[in-house]
Amino acid sequence: MQNIYFDNAATTPIHPEVIEVISTVMANNFGNPSSIHSSGRKAKGVIEESRVTMAKYMGCSPSELYFTSCGTESNNIALRKAADCLGIKHFISTPIEHHSVLSTLKDIVKQNPDIELHLLEVDEKGNYALEQLEQLLQKHSNVMVSIMHVNNELGNLSDLNSIGALCSSNDALFHTDAVQTVGYFNFDLSNIDMLSASAHKFGGPKGIGILYMKKGTQLDALITGGGQERGLRAGTENVPYIAGMAKAMALCYDHLIEKSAHIKSIKSYFQDSIRTKLPQIKFNGDVENSHYTVLSVRVPVKEGADMFLFNLDLKGISASGGSACNSGASKGSHVMEAIGNSGDCVNLRFSFGINNTRDEVDYCLQSLKELMDS
Ligand code: PLP
Repeated sequence: MQNIYFDNAATTPIHPEVIEVISTVMANNFGNPSSIHSSGRKAKGVIEESRVTMAKYMGCSPSELYFTSCGTESNNIALRKAADCLGIKHFISTPIEHHSVLSTLKDIVKQNPDIELHLLEVDEKGNYALEQLEQLLQKHSNVMVSIMHVNNELGNLSDLNSIGALCSSNDALFHTDAVQTVGYFNFDLSNIDMLSASAHKFGGPKGIGILYMKKGTQLDALITGGGQERGLRAGTENVPYIAGMAKAMALCYDHLIEKSAHIKSIKSYFQDSIRTKLPQIKFNGDVENSHYTVLSVRVPVKEGADMFLFNLDLKGISASGGSACNSGASKGSHVMEAIGNSGDCVNLRFSFGINNTRDEVDYCLQSLKELMDS
């Protein structure tokens, strides 16, 4: 039985060296980092060393990084606390953000009738116009923009430098959900005020994340009850996972060129194979401007997405659904709905990682063909 994992945008396998670091820290650094005795200080040392390591790779100061429990929490802190503490009156975002941004923004405006949410229009590829963003920025003050770096369903890449420059020149704050891209790209944070990331998307463990916040930005805690993370995030720190996240990030960035080249070659082989062997399968999103790990496709079959994914799984292939099609999927995707993808088809997301091979792509294409013919 094959075991092919094409779902790296959902989560990535934990690198063995990361598991080793986590186990070692768990065994040897059990102290509470808030304790003042040597065991506590040792654990605190692990946290601060990890922060320094990650700051080096992110191109920021260690004091600008805060540890959270996940990307969802980082997004919640950034948006909810910007509304509470920074006098934000207008949020500008897109209708294709991850739910941890979109639902949070909708909740903020529901609870604060004086705050407005503006969602940029997206076209059938999921692209939005920077001109519309610029017009909104010029029209309103006390604005925070939250736009994701890479769309987790389509793979579309946003131009953070252009958005950041627009925000900066219009005195707006800029938050980006970079959960799909930290570990895969180098960042220029000069015009980014806040950025969210999550370890399990780049070879680290689940349940640990980062919020980058530019020096000088002052927010209250979302989770209260302790002074950890300089008062921004109460709760005893997950020392082993923080150390594991730092190791995972180091492994990504120390080998970024080789790793990205390999994943790009797998994605383009998959894409080319579909074009030549299964041209009835179409691509979703802006494939010419998309993340090198993600490929979203539309398969012209009438059975539901869940059933199609189940049958793929029976062939040993893990991929993701995401569908607003007439597919009988238990719940439609707001992203597919926003781009008007509601045909008689199944949407599948294949997302690639360092362990994937061309043989796996060949087997997957053969399996897709068999399922479409059956
Ligand atoms: N943002 C994006 C773009 C994601 O893809 C995800 C996870 O799928 C999240 C946020 C949530 O991250 P976490 O699983 O760490 O809460």
